[in-house]
Amino acid sequence: MHVTSDETAHAVDLILARARERLLTDPPLGGTTKDSDLLEFASGALTEQGIGVQAALGIFADVLSPACVAADHPGYLSFIPAAPTKTATAFDMLVSASAVFGGFWRVGSGAIFAENQVLDWLAREFGLPPGAGGTFVQGGTQGNLSALVAARESARRSRARLGLSAPARWAIIASADAHSSVRSVARIMDVDVVPVRPSSTGALEAGSVREALDSTDVTVFAVVATAGSTNFGTVDDIASIAALKDEYTFWLHVDGAYGLAGMLSPVGRPLFAGVERADSLIVDPHKWLFAPFDACALIYRDPEEGRRAHTQRAEYLDAVTQTADWSAADYAVHLTRRARGLPLWFSLATHGAGAYRDAVTACIELAREIADEINLRPHLRLVRDPQLSIVVFERIGWTQDDYDSWAALQLSTGRALVTPSSHNSVPNLRLAIINPLTTRELLLELLDSMS
Ligand SMILES: *Cc1c(COP(=O)(O)O)cnc(C)c1O
Repeated sequence: MHVTSDETAHAVDLILARARERLLTDPPLGGTTKDSDLLEFASGALTEQGIGVQAALGIFADVLSPACVAADHPGYLSFIPAAPTKTATAFDMLVSASAVFGGFWRVGSGAIFAENQVLDWLAREFGLPPGAGGTFVQGGTQGNLSALVAARESARRSRARLGLSAPARWAIIASADAHSSVRSVARIMDVDVVPVRPSSTGALEAGSVREALDSTDVTVFAVVATAGSTNFGTVDDIASIAALKDEYTFWLHVDGAYGLAGMLSPVGRPLFAGVERADSLIVDPHKWLFAPFDACALIYRDPEEGRRAHTQRAEYLDAVTQTADWSAADYAVHLTRRARGLPLWFSLATHGAGAYRDAVTACIELAREIADEINLRPHLRLVRDPQLSIVVFERIGWTQDDYDSWAALQLSTGRALVTPSSHNSVPNLRLAIINPLTTRELLLELLDSMS
C-alpha cells in the first residue's frame, strides 16, 4: 500500500490517541443501533480510493462504537461482562503491533514461553501436577472442543491397545445445566450427550453420574463437570465426580470458563475440591481474569494427549512439527494464532497474583452482600444463594413485560445492562458481577428501582 511514512505516523497517532482516551476515561454504556440507521450513517466507508484515516476513525467513533455496549462498563451485568485491566488491554495493542505468530515455537518462542508461564501458574493454582500445560485458544467453546477431541482420541487409543474396535456411538456425560457449548461441541464431534439432572442446588453430583455411567448403552469417553455454571455460577460436586475415576474409566473435563477463576480466591477455593484430578480444564481470562477478549486457557493434565490429537501434519509444516519444541498450535483446534495469553501475562506480572485474588474475592463478597440485600426486601426473592458472583432473583408480581420495560429503561438511561432471564419458565433477573468497578451502590440503586 502506498502510504507515506508521514501519513502512517499521523494515522497511528490518531488511532493511539483514541485508544488512550478510551482506556483512560469512563466509557458510556452504549446500546444497540438499528440496522437501517447504521446503513444510513456508516455504509459509505468502503470505497475504491479510501476515505482517509480521519473519516474512517470518525465513523467508528461517532457511529459504530456507540452502537456497541461497553462490556467493561460497571453497569454491564448481563451475560458474562468483561473487566480487563487497563495494563492488559494496553499491552494487547503492543502484542498486535509486535506481529508475533503464536503457533510455532520456532517463530514465537518468547511469546509462547510467557504464555506457558501463565498456564503453569494456573495449573498449580488448580492443583494439577507438574508438566500440565496447553495453550490459549479463542474462547471456552473452542477450549471445550479441543479438550473433548483429545479425550476421545485418548479413549480411541486405549481401546485400540486392548484390541477393541471403535464403539457404535461415543458419548459425553454432562449436567443438564452445562453450558450450551458442550452440546454444540458434541454435535460437531457427532457424539451423544447424556444429560444428567443436577441436584436441587444445581450441582451435578456423583450419584447421578454413576447411574448414567452404569445404565447408558453408549460408550462414555468423558464426563464434563462445570466449575461455575453460566446461569447461576453453581459449581458441580467435582470431588465426588472425580472419585468415580477410581472405579470407571473416563476423561474428566472441567469447564471453568467463567467460574474457575473463583479458585484463586481463598473464599471461593473450597468449592473447587477435585479439580486437581481433571484430565483437562478451561478458564477464560476474558471473563473473570481481567484480560481483554478473546482468550481461553486450555490445560491438559498430560499435554501429550492434546498434542497427539491436534498436531497438524503437512510437508510444509515438517520443520516445525517434527521437533520436540513446544508449539502452541499442537494443542488445540487451531494453527495460526495470536499470542492471546500475553495480555494476562503482562498484567499478572505488573500487578501480582495477590491483586487477582483480591479482585475475585471482592466480587464473591459483593455478590453475597447483594443476596443479603435481596433477602431483606419483601418484594424480591432470591432464586438461589450465590456460590460465586452471579445473583439471580425475582421481582415478586412482575410479568415478563414488567421485567422487559424495566430493563429497557436501565439501558436507555445508560445505567445498566441487565437483560431478563428465566428459570423453569419463571422470569427473573441475573446479575453477573465480575467488574471491580461495579459498586454496591449501583447494585442497590437497581434493587431499589424495582420496588
Ligand atoms: C462462557 C462459557 C463458555 C463458552 O465460552 P466462550 O468463551 O464464550 O466460547 C463455556 N462454558 C461456560 C461454563 C461458560 O460460562
